[in-house]
Amino acid sequence: MSQLPWPASFLAPARWRGVQRLLARCLELQAARSLPGTLMLVGPAGLGREALAVELAAALVCRQQQGPGCICSSCERVRRGVHPDVEVIDVLPKKEEISIEQARQVVENVAQRPYEGLRRVYVLSSCHTPPLNAEAASALLKTLEEPPPHSSFLLLASNPARVLPTIVSRAVQLRVPAPEREELLSVLALAQGCSEERAAELLAAAEGDAELALRSGEDFPAAVGGLKALITAALGADGLAILRAGAAVRQAPAGTMLLSAALLQLAARADRESAEEFLDAAAALLTAEDRSALLHLDLEGVLVGTLARAAVGRGTR
Ligand SMILES: [Zn+2]
Repeated sequence: MSQLPWPASFLAPARWRGVQRLLARCLELQAARSLPGTLMLVGPAGLGREALAVELAAALVCRQQQGPGCICSSCERVRRGVHPDVEVIDVLPKKEEISIEQARQVVENVAQRPYEGLRRVYVLSSCHTPPLNAEAASALLKTLEEPPPHSSFLLLASNPARVLPTIVSRAVQLRVPAPEREELLSVLALAQGCSEERAAELLAAAEGDAELALRSGEDFPAAVGGLKALITAALGADGLAILRAGAAVRQAPAGTMLLSAALLQLAARADRESAEEFLDAAAALLTAEDRSALLHLDLEGVLVGTLARAAVGRGTR
């Protein structure tokens, strides 16, 4: 039973060729003692960055030093999330951010020697803000700037623009390579509990957006279809449709992702003028999502405002 805060499908990309190449490169640098102490692994959640973090942590800690794919008890315990020298820092249940206490605990522990492995490795499951807000981040800055020689920090992010500049400047970024198509389909099938044929259909419905296909429920094509109809009606100055599109952002946990997917799919098929409106609305939504936690923006309000302005713009043309 894994104690890692991720579903099993998140570790499957350890077999992906691009992930294995990047892992091998990191271990070459480590052998030459030039692997940076603080790395930011950049890529969408579930598409390689967690798998890379776990395999790199295992290899850095392992006393056998057999390299990638080692199946000694130490490496296997890292993969199950139960090795004492590898700590995954994640938002605690019922909390929305990484707490200042969690950050302080890392700073206290990091000075200690490893329990049994060669190093201690800390994996921050997301270094975006949120969940890593200014207070906890500032507690970590000195440690991230110069981790003790026996420790490594792996910070996970999908978009460095959503990471505090003070954190960005202290980490070396590694972009996790995108999977090949058959690799993606097999992980998508695993994550959604469906066949690879069905996974291919989902990927097609997501128009190639792997994160959308992976992160949304299996019924997302219908959800995106409904949102497209709603947005089209909203831009026809249907006030009720505007409000319902806004409510969709509030209700669905993945509402912003589904809505921006719907807007982008509409833009791809629209004439130039309408395409710009769709792209503007998608950009406004994503920018607002980035800033919502910092500025306490109300995403629903932003979307309703954008759609209403676009509808009015159309009415006066
Ligand atoms: Zn090992």
